[in-house]
Amino acid sequence: MKFFEIIALGIVLIAGNVSADTLIHAGRLIDGESDSALTEMTVRVDGSQIKAIESGYVAAGPGDTVIDLKNHTVMPGLMDMHVHLTHQYTEDSRLNRFITNEADYAIDAVKYAKRTLEAGFTVVRNLGDAFNVTIALRKAIEDGDVPGPRVFSAGKSLATTGGHADPTNGWASHIAGDPGPRQGVVNGVDDVRKAVRQRYKDGADWIKITATGGVLSVAKSGENPQFTDEELVALVDTAADYGLRVAAHAHGTEGMKRAVIAGVASIEHGTFMDQEVMRLMKKNGTYYVPTILAGVWVGEKSKIDGFFPDLVRPKAAAIGPVIKSTFAKAYKAGVPIVFGTDSGVSAHGDNAQEFSLMVEGGMPPMEAIQSATSVAAKFLGIDDTHGTLEANKQADIVAVPGNPLDDITAMERVSFVMKAGIIYKHE
Ligand SMILES: [Zn+2]
Repeated sequence: MKFFEIIALGIVLIAGNVSADTLIHAGRLIDGESDSALTEMTVRVDGSQIKAIESGYVAAGPGDTVIDLKNHTVMPGLMDMHVHLTHQYTEDSRLNRFITNEADYAIDAVKYAKRTLEAGFTVVRNLGDAFNVTIALRKAIEDGDVPGPRVFSAGKSLATTGGHADPTNGWASHIAGDPGPRQGVVNGVDDVRKAVRQRYKDGADWIKITATGGVLSVAKSGENPQFTDEELVALVDTAADYGLRVAAHAHGTEGMKRAVIAGVASIEHGTFMDQEVMRLMKKNGTYYVPTILAGVWVGEKSKIDGFFPDLVRPKAAAIGPVIKSTFAKAYKAGVPIVFGTDSGVSAHGDNAQEFSLMVEGGMPPMEAIQSATSVAAKFLGIDDTHGTLEANKQADIVAVPGNPLDDITAMERVSFVMKAGIIYKHE
């Protein structure tokens, strides 16, 4: 080695020593994968990446910044596999659809994305939006134009005519017209293929279908099967051709079973999941996204006179409360479970309330946290960069005061949020 090369190497080494890292002093650290928490740890962040996880409270070198979270539990950024960032249900939702413009949905989505991030959710899967707003939102967040979680978007959901995601349910027929694949209404194999291809063209990351009736659509049944086997197979196969996977909203047993057999990646809600469906899901590796929070929320609101339209109220009262016991059974049976809330039914930013409901349903707190971190990252296929606190992963890091393993409601008090090394919240 020539002399000047040695000098150059020396400069590089010195420069390396003074590179400004951020040292997070974590009183307790949950890495997203291990079964127990570690205490008195340091997470070393360099730029957008985690550089190292070190024991003890490592002292700051020249230029380093220390973040004191010694009274906190530090963990990977949380991930919610079922949100709707363009909407938030209110008593007026039925009317709002007629007075809300595309741009209004976009502005709302920016607001809700920020709330979601500040609640500690650094990744979300958006399962159904209006006007592909969450695809545009995804790009704006990626570009750093607006704060929000990383978004995986399904664009507009797919339903059959009169199905749960037919956007014109309950409208007068002279206003409703005859929506087709672009609007998310499909009938028969050709429509299904066209709709999937349209979503690929639009830039969607996932395909969302409503395999059975649903609670909040103005339609009679919340449970009936709404796709044929033939349509479901065409859907999953066409999606696979474009590298897309399918998420299926399902409450009723028959529609759920058809969707699982056809090869969807996840069942959303899963209310009337029976033992046979559970067995099939385990066999096929189909994930269950429980959304207990949405079930509890609609169950509560169904008690208020006039909150829901007349067709919706009995469905909310019947289906909502069942989800919690379904979760308990599915967990016991060993069905793969990944965290998801259906936020947009309940308020955005309240996502973490799901953790308590999962723990009440029999899942230990650590597993509930893993379902929203390492399990979710594997489910999305981003586990090489996300889902755990370890060297070389993206610095998506959140913290709550106290110990969520003793009191799971601590998850509802996220006080520190870092995404890709940038701090969005520190109280
Ligand atoms: Zn939903």
